[in-house]
Amino acid sequence: MTDQQPTYRGRLAPSPTGHLHLGHARTFWIAAERTKEKNGTLILRNEDLDAERFRMDFVTDMLEDLRWVGLDWAEGPDIGGPFGPYSQSQRKTLYRFALQKLHALGVIYPCTRSRRDVIDAAGAPHETDEEPVYPAHFRPPASQDVPALEDVISINWRMRVPDNETLSFIDNNLGLKQGVAGKDFGDFLVWRKDDCPSYQLACVVDDSAMQITEVVRGADLVTSTFRQLVLYKALGLISPEFYHCALMLDEKGVRLAKRHDALSLRQMRSHGMTPADVIAAMKR
Ligand code: GLU
Repeated sequence: MTDQQPTYRGRLAPSPTGHLHLGHARTFWIAAERTKEKNGTLILRNEDLDAERFRMDFVTDMLEDLRWVGLDWAEGPDIGGPFGPYSQSQRKTLYRFALQKLHALGVIYPCTRSRRDVIDAAGAPHETDEEPVYPAHFRPPASQDVPALEDVISINWRMRVPDNETLSFIDNNLGLKQGVAGKDFGDFLVWRKDDCPSYQLACVVDDSAMQITEVVRGADLVTSTFRQLVLYKALGLISPEFYHCALMLDEKGVRLAKRHDALSLRQMRSHGMTPADVIAAMKR
């Protein structure tokens, strides 16, 4: 590493929509280890935009669980730092600014189709977590005028992806990843009708504003990374590097996050497990 390279900045970006389980802890542990190896700075960002599932007590529990297992961050909602605020619910002005930029570029459009409409039009049974590709015939023509943005948004807004463009990045764990716009992923939400930015938009705005140099997250988010690369490009922002971690499976090959009985860190602790036991379990 030379002096010219930017200082490594890694992040933990938990959503306070439930208690953290071993799979989350493992991803965060890897993010923390990579930051340590690179002598970098670890940031904790509270992704509390999901108004329906968000609960304040989960924020407190989440920070406590992460500290208990031995994770330590240098910037975060509980300690502040130069790139705050570190809770997404307090950063809406920044997201709105990015939305306005996309609107001025003419690359977003309002969409009245429901999730159900999109699933039905996609035809195939929807068994994965991945959103089906937004059907091209649902899109307004690119030549059509885009209506103004409301002050308080009451309609979904979608990003028009550059059809057939291949996006690629070198994942620091998985190697070369490629995705084709319009085929592997389609037009995606940037703002929701409850006047809330989408995960994709908020994540790009924040990772850029917080000067994150490497995003470490689960491999279930690789397709989202392609969507986010579309946004980085449109907004004229430099994208960070990426490291997608393999997901933790149980002995039957079921993803931990999918199992309703997946043990939370909280439960493990109440069953007498120590942080060292948890770390050993996540390394298995
Ligand atoms: N908040 C997201 C989650 O908990 C993380 C997304 C990301 O790391 O980009 O799944």
